[in-house]
Amino acid sequence: AAPVLAIDGPSGSGKGTISRAVAGQLGWHYLDSGALYRGVGVAAGWNDIDLADPAALVRCTFDTRIAFRDLPGGEPRVLINDVDATDELRTETAGAAASAIAAIPEVRSALKDRQRAFRQQPGLVADGRDMGTVIFPDARWKVFLTASAEERADRRYKQLIGKGVSVTLAGLLREILARDARDANRPVAPLRPADDAVRIDTTGVGIDEVVARVLAVVRG
Ligand code: C5P
Repeated sequence: AAPVLAIDGPSGSGKGTISRAVAGQLGWHYLDSGALYRGVGVAAGWNDIDLADPAALVRCTFDTRIAFRDLPGGEPRVLINDVDATDELRTETAGAAASAIAAIPEVRSALKDRQRAFRQQPGLVADGRDMGTVIFPDARWKVFLTASAEERADRRYKQLIGKGVSVTLAGLLREILARDARDANRPVAPLRPADDAVRIDTTGVGIDEVVARVLAVVRG
């Protein structure tokens, strides 16, 4: 099977940016597993599905097609049922919906094979919460990225403001803390580092330096 580098961590730990950069450097495939949960969340919103109705959400998971299209030089686009939903996917509303949906065991198992299908030669960088623990427990390398909640809120703030989304730093910090608590305390696949993960605290560390540290894990 193709080698896998699992990169897990809480929201705003820089996983997306770092994983994409590392995948680019290695010339490997990239799985944004959060986009699958967010995609189901967005589709549920489009279909007026109640986030408190697990059976309807499980059906929605099976009915929702999520595809990634690479753009040269740009952020890859995410298509939900053939509609470009890249921007809607990044909103905190979609993140919160994803986190609610991600607590449903049948949703998680319905997405398992879709995630494993990304494992292809020459290799895969898998970004998420349970890449090293559940989806690719046999990953050759596992990294767990962390950063202080304040720094994570600040990063998300800059990201969203840069896209013209109107948010407040205090509001984002509250949402991040709430999402952390939900992700860490849910009974299925709670967010925790795999026993054999290398932990990297990215607080105050620049992107290039984190990318270098992760590449050092892979290249030994
Ligand atoms: O990483 P991202 O912020 O896009 O993930 C959104 C939400 O999806 C997370 O808060 C988490 O609840 C859920 N998720 C998950 N397992 C993954 C990826 C994301 O439970 N592998």
